[in-house]
Amino acid sequence: MEKVMTLPNYINGQWCTSSATEYLNVINPATAEILIKVPLSPASEVNQAAQAAAEAFVSWRRTPPTERVQYLFKLKNLLEENLEDLARTITLECGKTLAESQGEMQRAIENVEVACGIPMMMQGTNLEDIARGIDEMMIRQPLGVAAVIAPFNFPGMIPFWFMPYALACGNTYIVKPSEKVPLTMQKIFQLLEKTGLPKGVVNLVNGAKEAVDAILDHPKIRAISFVGSTPVAKYIYSRAAANGKRVQCQGGAKNPLIVLPDADLEMTTRIAADSAFGCAGQRCLAASIAVTVGQMRDTFTEAIAETAKKRVVGNGLESGVEMGPVITTQSKTRIEDLIQKGADQGARVLVDGREPNISGYENGNFIRPTILQNVDPAGEIASTEIFGPVLSLIHLESIEEAIALINSGQYGNMACLFTTSGAAARKFRYEAEAGNIGINIGVAAPMAFFPFSGWKESFFGDLHGQSNHAIEFFTQTKVVVERWPKDWSRQF
Ligand code: NAD
Repeated sequence: MEKVMTLPNYINGQWCTSSATEYLNVINPATAEILIKVPLSPASEVNQAAQAAAEAFVSWRRTPPTERVQYLFKLKNLLEENLEDLARTITLECGKTLAESQGEMQRAIENVEVACGIPMMMQGTNLEDIARGIDEMMIRQPLGVAAVIAPFNFPGMIPFWFMPYALACGNTYIVKPSEKVPLTMQKIFQLLEKTGLPKGVVNLVNGAKEAVDAILDHPKIRAISFVGSTPVAKYIYSRAAANGKRVQCQGGAKNPLIVLPDADLEMTTRIAADSAFGCAGQRCLAASIAVTVGQMRDTFTEAIAETAKKRVVGNGLESGVEMGPVITTQSKTRIEDLIQKGADQGARVLVDGREPNISGYENGNFIRPTILQNVDPAGEIASTEIFGPVLSLIHLESIEEAIALINSGQYGNMACLFTTSGAAARKFRYEAEAGNIGINIGVAAPMAFFPFSGWKESFFGDLHGQSNHAIEFFTQTKVVVERWPKDWSRQF
């Protein structure tokens, strides 16, 4: 019988075999093949990583920012040279199409590029003569050791919303990838090693709850970034904050997309389908509800149903495939149960993606695009995060009703409007309660030079990932007031 390999951790510049007693299988969601085993590392290994990072911090924070970013320039080049291999790894363990994986890595690289501007972006401020002969300045200093706890759906990109900024600002770092998709970070750490970063500056600890809890409680870890589901985000936010840490937690979502009667039907349909079914609906910015207004009830419904039926579903590694599987068999069952629940609660299953029959991939976690029509706006399906390729259609009579529906929701990650009216677009941008807004855009993902926002139960904290928010998050400000009387300095 073929022996299944296990993944090492990377601590203090060394690849080390975990002392874990429990391992999980990492499974290709398209084929059900076991790719590798991932250790559920014990708290002692988080402790080793935190100690190593704390020791490395002493000289890393003294390394000039201009030198620190040289490692990031090298990383950018290495990521670009290895983009195809990294994208293939993402598709293997996560299931999305190769094009989606390439796009994901491109987004990761863009964050490295922005963080390379740290010698400018980390600057403080100063003002001479706040009183005669007295000067005041605000300087930014790194915090120390920081860590990220990542979800399964973007194994390559999400740690990059935080890590490049943390390192560029002079912090040292620990990454805890999702135990469902640990292979991509393994490869990225092989590249980080090639940059020649001093030992202990970056550390990789694989694992699940025990490793996470050890991160939340470790006295040497000063800041935690989390991306994942809302219940876990709440838990992490409260436990880490109670331990005095700086925390930013991005949670789940239920993203609405509003289609006004004056929208461009062809463009709206194409974009809405990409938003709802791209990455098999497993994007925190995936459209989950489409609200039609006025005459769009019939025309959009017909068009989106046709588009959904045509989407090519299969193994993301194969060319021509437009949508891969969902992550696990449990996820597939949960999504199918929610489709059934929608039907039981009065929705019509207009396009039914259950029983997908993907030839050659009978063991894969496939669901084809699914459309639920006449979903009750006050019902469970309209408010539950499905995280699969399921779009719920709701009809309302006006933009006011649509905005009211959005604002009544628990989440506030993304809301999109499709229209040709500038006045409607402004009203929507102004009134919709969501951190990321799309106007004629279906996946309103902020570029690396903007913060990745999120409101309500989609975000817990103050400062978001990416851009200037990340720099504020990974630095603490110090204010210095100076007076140098002439007889002390002998210079006047
Ligand atoms: P998850 O919450 O199950 O897991 C995320 C991380 O938390 C993993 O590293 C996991 O090991 C850890 N974890 C899980 N349960 C834990 C527990 N009880 N105690 C301690 N740690 C625990 O999320 P997921 O299923 O990997 O990812 C999907 C979710 O992430 C969706 O809800 C999606 O909306 C959300 N997401 C949000 C954003 C955003 O920007 N807001 C981005 C991507 C994903």
